[in-house]
Amino acid sequence: MYKIAFVSGKGGTGKTTIAINFAKLLSYNVKTLLVDLDVEEPNDNLFFKYKVTDSTTYDFSPEFDLNKCTYCMECSKKCQFGAIAVAPPNFLKFFEELCHGCTACKYICKYNAIKDSKKEIGTIYHNLDSIPSIVYGYLKNNSTMTTELIRQVKRFADDHKENFDLIVYDCPPGNSCPAIESVKDANMIIVVAEPTPFGLHDFKIMVETLKIINKPFNVFINKDDSNFVDLENFCINNNLKIVGKIKYNETISKAYSRGLFIYKFKEVTKELNNINKNILDAVSNSNERNFNC
Ligand code: SF4
Ligand code: SF4
Repeated sequence: MYKIAFVSGKGGTGKTTIAINFAKLLSYNVKTLLVDLDVEEPNDNLFFKYKVTDSTTYDFSPEFDLNKCTYCMECSKKCQFGAIAVAPPNFLKFFEELCHGCTACKYICKYNAIKDSKKEIGTIYHNLDSIPSIVYGYLKNNSTMTTELIRQVKRFADDHKENFDLIVYDCPPGNSCPAIESVKDANMIIVVAEPTPFGLHDFKIMVETLKIINKPFNVFINKDDSNFVDLENFCINNNLKIVGKIKYNETISKAYSRGLFIYKFKEVTKELNNINKNILDAVSNSNERNFNC
């Protein structure tokens, strides 16, 4: 089982475009499971339009027994998210929308005044019979449990991994906890970057983040523009390997915005196939932990 994660520091670089087209192309050769981890705005299935099965997901939520509570304030001091306000002698208020379900309050309470309860955090959708197969999560409105839902979507994918040769993660944009959670177990990471000043700014943060968590990665430049060479120069100066480049092309952009796959455009096919060959080699030798194109 081999796992490839597509990430981007900045939203709008074309990460999803590249991820779904990779998954589609690779699925002709290996059993591929596409996992959309952008649970706040999953859109991979808008392209595939599969009929999907759904299951609701839950996470821990504390339930307070005020008959046992001594209003000692320990839970509110321990909660890092400000979800509990306690004021002796008899005031306690729980802000469910701030709670991240970490369970710390339950373990700190010496008076057994906090019981297990659960709250709905989102829904996992899947179609495991399609080619490629797909799994994605959809975060419930107003929920802050993005990272937990990503964990649960990945767990669902792992529970079915014996049926697949390859898992492709389409990760959430940005550099915070959801993105880090998404790439943690990937064998290969491809950072999709766009050659603009904003794109370069966020790309640098992603590069630093991946270095800190010690994950090797390669770079794919989308919407390449010879008027802005700073991104490519940054990669060259920092020994970052560029494994593919797709030039900005209005016809391709229009096709994508109409919900079409773009891997059939010859300039895209060429770039994707270069990498796909190496991915297929890695999949057939998936004892390798990390892989460089
Ligand atoms: S730690 Fe327990 S006893 Fe203390 S305020 Fe919280 S719920 Fe009440
Ligand atoms: S579960 Fe964690 S985040 Fe939620 S109230 Fe308890 S300590 Fe705070």
